[in-house]
Amino acid sequence: MRQSKIFIPTLKEVPNDAVVPSHVFMLRAGMMRPLGAGIYSFLPLGYRVAKKVMEIIRQEMDAIGGQEFHLPALNPREIWEETGRVEAFGDILFSVKNRDYVLAPTHEEIITYHARKVVRSYKEMPQIWYQIQTKFRNEPRPKSGVLRGRQFTMKDAYSLDSSWEGLDKSYALHDQAYRKIFTRCGLKFFVVGASSGAMGGSGSEEFMVNAQAGEDTVAHCEHCGYAANVEVATSRTPVVTRHPQSKANELIHTPNTKSIDELIAFLNIKEEECAKSRVYIIDEKPVLVLMSGNDEVNETKLQKALSSEPRPAHPEELAEITGADAGSIGPVGFKGRIIADLCLKEGNNLYSGANKNDYHIGGIDLKRDAEGIEYFDLRTVTSGEGCPSCGKEMQVFTAIELGHIFKLGTKYSDAMGATFLDEDGTEKPIIMGSYGIGVERVMACYIEQHHDERGIIWNKALAPFHIHLLGLNMKKEPVIKASEELYTKLTAAGYDVLFDDREAQAGFKFNDADLLGMPVQVIVGEKKLAEGKVEVKLRATGEREDVSLTELEAYIQKVLR
Ligand code: ATP
Ligand code: MG
Repeated sequence: MRQSKIFIPTLKEVPNDAVVPSHVFMLRAGMMRPLGAGIYSFLPLGYRVAKKVMEIIRQEMDAIGGQEFHLPALNPREIWEETGRVEAFGDILFSVKNRDYVLAPTHEEIITYHARKVVRSYKEMPQIWYQIQTKFRNEPRPKSGVLRGRQFTMKDAYSLDSSWEGLDKSYALHDQAYRKIFTRCGLKFFVVGASSGAMGGSGSEEFMVNAQAGEDTVAHCEHCGYAANVEVATSRTPVVTRHPQSKANELIHTPNTKSIDELIAFLNIKEEECAKSRVYIIDEKPVLVLMSGNDEVNETKLQKALSSEPRPAHPEELAEITGADAGSIGPVGFKGRIIADLCLKEGNNLYSGANKNDYHIGGIDLKRDAEGIEYFDLRTVTSGEGCPSCGKEMQVFTAIELGHIFKLGTKYSDAMGATFLDEDGTEKPIIMGSYGIGVERVMACYIEQHHDERGIIWNKALAPFHIHLLGLNMKKEPVIKASEELYTKLTAAGYDVLFDDREAQAGFKFNDADLLGMPVQVIVGEKKLAEGKVEVKLRATGEREDVSLTELEAYIQKVLR
């Protein structure tokens, strides 16, 4: 493709609302342009990458026996009413005004609708049906470019099985296919086992990447692969040790020490000698939650421990319940239920609030000084803590979901009456799985992981072009002749070549080439040509080498392998 002909409107400046690197570079490299909030038009360069991602997905889905469908995005609303998901999706679901249609945010209902009509017997299963199709979700906060859009492309696959073992197999096939797809795309990913939650299945996994734009916070161990959402993640945190001798309680005047940090500075003690108290209200009753030092209460874990949703007590309530303000509250003398983090189980000689403003109590032995404390894992893990499975250091970061595999079970087939005749002659609901990958997310996450301050760094698999051929002075006859010949030759050799044949300054061309990020740049300049050479630059490493025209093809073959 000649750059003088292809529409690649690059931008020098960072567009106003773009913050995350993928968003910045997809705009700056002329891959896409916004049309509305969370809606993007793909331009030729961007769409070439999308097609490469889709091709990798197709190959790996076909390899596990997937059959490609193309289901309508415009769906009769009544089908969605059969499963109650018009309500479940709420405002996320786009409706077509004055018509009984919705724009599909996913396609479980439509697949189940067709399965109900065509699948009659156990003999017709297993089936893997997939498609690559536009999805519509009225996301409340579309952001970070295509990472969270209102219209996006999803590969969604559905498995139909006659047995639960069959579902396990279909699920395992998708798990393998997903690992291959993301590996081929050059993504560094990890897998989080998610709870089956609202979709009502019996197991699911999310394929995630570490990204600044992510909305999930996860703990991940690169050593053994342990990964979990911080809402449920655990770690090997050191427990608070028990001293051989429990000291007596001591009331200490501690003015202006509201926080743990202020308290440890004031008393010159260690963080782990403190027990921090928070009061929550559950079913109208107060519960004191005790954490070690500065450990954060994990609300999800707390909710699970209490089997109910607690709310923090208001300041007036606090004063009424404990006689003190936040910052001076503690377990000794507290009237009500006390629950504490597991690591405090053996704790003694601790400092905590005295339930009297500006006072703390020292020498607290939780076994001796407070009755009936219940212990649960309540803390939020932080970076650097020991992995619960291998003990090595874990990291906590924000991540974004690339793909999701899900054992749906019979949720949809039950709701919609999609049954089959089993071997034993009885009618049973089809056992289903659903498996999604966001195409634009794959592209954007690749860029999040592969860029520098100058632009994108494509690998061979996703690059819109393999080679960027730069004719440096397109007014000079020898440069024109040599670069035209190379363009023809490299294209004939099977490479996708972007030929910068524009009459522009060399510096301008170099900047554009680094911004667009093709893996190999072949630079044709007058001086080197005189020696029968061109310069080859590898975008990933910045390495440059003069290569003779006769050896160029072999050289490119080697570096692109
Ligand atoms: P998220 O938790 O990020 O909102 P989700 O759980 O709603 O995603 P699924 O319904 O599991 O997503 O959809 C499958 C895949 O589709 C996701 O893994 C993601 O790659 C992609 N996807 C979902 N929502 C969007 C969106 N708004 N924009 C772009 N891609 C999306
Ligand atoms: Mg999901």
